Amino acid sequence: MKVIKTIIELQKEIAILQDLSQDKKVAFVPTMGALHFGHISLINEALKVSENVICSVFVNPKQFNNQEDLNLYPRTESADIEILKNSGCKIVFIPSTDEIYPKNETNYKIDLGYLDQIMEGKHRKGHFEGVCRVVERLFEIVNPTDAFFGSKDFQQVAVIKHMVKLKKIPVEIHACPIIRETTGLAMSSRNARLSDEEKNKATILYQALLMGKKMYQEKKEISMIINEMSESIQSKGLEIEYIEIVDTETLLQKDAFENNTVCCLAVYCGKVRLIDNMIFS
Ligand code: AMP
Repeated sequence: MKVIKTIIELQKEIAILQDLSQDKKVAFVPTMGALHFGHISLINEALKVSENVICSVFVNPKQFNNQEDLNLYPRTESADIEILKNSGCKIVFIPSTDEIYPKNETNYKIDLGYLDQIMEGKHRKGHFEGVCRVVERLFEIVNPTDAFFGSKDFQQVAVIKHMVKLKKIPVEIHACPIIRETTGLAMSSRNARLSDEEKNKATILYQALLMGKKMYQEKKEISMIINEMSESIQSKGLEIEYIEIVDTETLLQKDAFENNTVCCLAVYCGKVRLIDNMIFS
């Protein structure tokens, strides 16, 4: 596996990979590092599509709406490189901020419509604009045929699909399943900031989602489902930012039982903000 820091070298190596291989596809997995099995599962999905798998590790300052969260974001570059060496990934791209944003223009704009005003968009102002900005830039640099994102960030996948359609970028977006610890806690780089006690408490998210799913399939009222989920999460001392039951395509709220439904939530466990979701029907 090649570890590459500059765009010029990356583009040269991708061209070599494509020349050497019958396979002309390029499968791309963007990450912010502090890698765990959730990230590796994306690489495994990418390997099903192409042997030319490129992973990026870049903590994108533009998508943090909270400076403390950016400062405390775990950075584990050498461990990440070790994990990737055994993953089947051919190139890891680890650029500096200057490499990605050389002129630091402040005028990036994208019309995300209501997607930017609900759930994560509503609670993390500017977050999705920052995500689109870096993903568009990375797509421009890597020029992948396929890109892989985790459904752990359910709304992010919807936003990226919207961006790709709007900007007419010729890349296929693959949404991959959520990988969980055996306790049910969704794997996340931010889990490293949880104490053992907090990690234990945070397993309530998965339990609450399972309970909500059962109630939803029993066609209980939406408000009752959200109340019961909230009570069980709060009983562990976690602070809820939102719990919403929405359409898997439009992400608009559902009033009663329907198919294609997902429940998304964001919760504070101590100082750490966690998100999770589950398909309800
Ligand atoms: P991040 O490094 O947190 O920006 O995540 C990089 C990619 O990995 C994103 O597409 C995430 O949705 C995905 N990802 C993070 N955690 C998980 C998980 N537990 N299961 C599946 N994908 C994940």
